[in-house]
Amino acid sequence: MPKKQNTTAQRAREAARQGTKYTQALRNGAGYHPAAGTTATASEDDRFGGHEFEYEQVTDLFRCTECRVYEVVARDTDGPIKPCTGPIGYGGDTERVYLLLTENPELPHSHVASLAWNIRNTGIGRAPRYAWRDGKLLVESAPSVVAELARRIEQITSTIDSRQVPAVSSVDHLTAEAGRAILAENYAAYVAEYGEPA
Ligand SMILES: [Zn+2]
Repeated sequence: MPKKQNTTAQRAREAARQGTKYTQALRNGAGYHPAAGTTATASEDDRFGGHEFEYEQVTDLFRCTECRVYEVVARDTDGPIKPCTGPIGYGGDTERVYLLLTENPELPHSHVASLAWNIRNTGIGRAPRYAWRDGKLLVESAPSVVAELARRIEQITSTIDSRQVPAVSSVDHLTAEAGRAILAENYAAYVAEYGEPA
């Protein structure tokens, strides 16, 4: 049974059918600022429960790119949306831990976009929104896979003058609380510079 949608959702669906990311289009409608990053965390974005829904042509449905659940299924509750369990690689583990990476200071300019892309490609970690500030990138993971993620991050390299150097100079392990505190600080710094997202 299809449910009533508001017009922001309808516009976002239309944008998604034309190739724009659905959740991102919805956030744009809500004043989402792309400079803030691409991935939300469940705690900061309750409307989507942390899911990243994208249009899936074969089913004509919206599906989360992280946990693979369909939007209609996630929303099929009398209460709030079922929260995203995160990437499949987390193995359904809903606990979160964080790594704070320091980008290699030898790099003449930041390679953070490719670093974040490499991390996402591991399937066991991701950079939430407001993860990047002052040469440091905060990465979310799950306790069962974080050691493997740290090991893989240490192997990521960048190229300087055709020489391979480590992309990060240090990897610090943080608890969920410490990680969220850093996200809150980064968000505050973002607001100080760009203003409150509308
Ligand atoms: Zn999800």
